[in-house]
Amino acid sequence: MDLRPPTVRRLLEHLERLPGVGPRTAQRLAEHLLTVPPDDLEAFAESLRALNQTVTLCPECCLLTEEVPCAVCADPGRDRSLILVVEEPTTAWSVESTGEYHGLYHALLGHLSPLHGVGPDDLSIDRLEERCRSGDVAEVILATDPTVEGETTALYIARRLQPLEVSLSRPASGIPVGGEVATVDRVTLAQALQLRRTV
Ligand SMILES: [Zn+2]
Repeated sequence: MDLRPPTVRRLLEHLERLPGVGPRTAQRLAEHLLTVPPDDLEAFAESLRALNQTVTLCPECCLLTEEVPCAVCADPGRDRSLILVVEEPTTAWSVESTGEYHGLYHALLGHLSPLHGVGPDDLSIDRLEERCRSGDVAEVILATDPTVEGETTALYIARRLQPLEVSLSRPASGIPVGGEVATVDRVTLAQALQLRRTV
């Protein structure tokens, strides 16, 4: 007999779809949520509801934002000759937390993965190329993850941007092979960005 009330069962189904959450963790999270004070639970529910209503992608750089353009694109103090290309918008949060980067960003919204049917048109590469054609951009730092897919994506973009007058670089080593840019500690990340190498 399934003793789980239908509402709790639906919650468990949603929790189990989250990355890294299996049935046991989902059950622990549900147990916890059932003890949370009503106001906190309502605030939590509201933040979930607001996700698809107020958060959008910056039409310029594809970072997550509630203002258009995003805070980086709108900031006159940023170096507009430099674009740091990352796979996911959230990686920019890690880079920004180093306090060492003052250029613009471009989130690809993933990486090339022929096996999973992800081609160039599924990423924001056209938009990146357009930005590079605008004339203000002097350097593009390809900070895709040092995985096979990330390297393939960086190579593809480098080929696409080659005819344009922008210099292309990759962050220096320090980001472990197979790792993710977003998970590297601040000092290493800041160093990797400073000591970049030309592609
Ligand atoms: Zn932006």
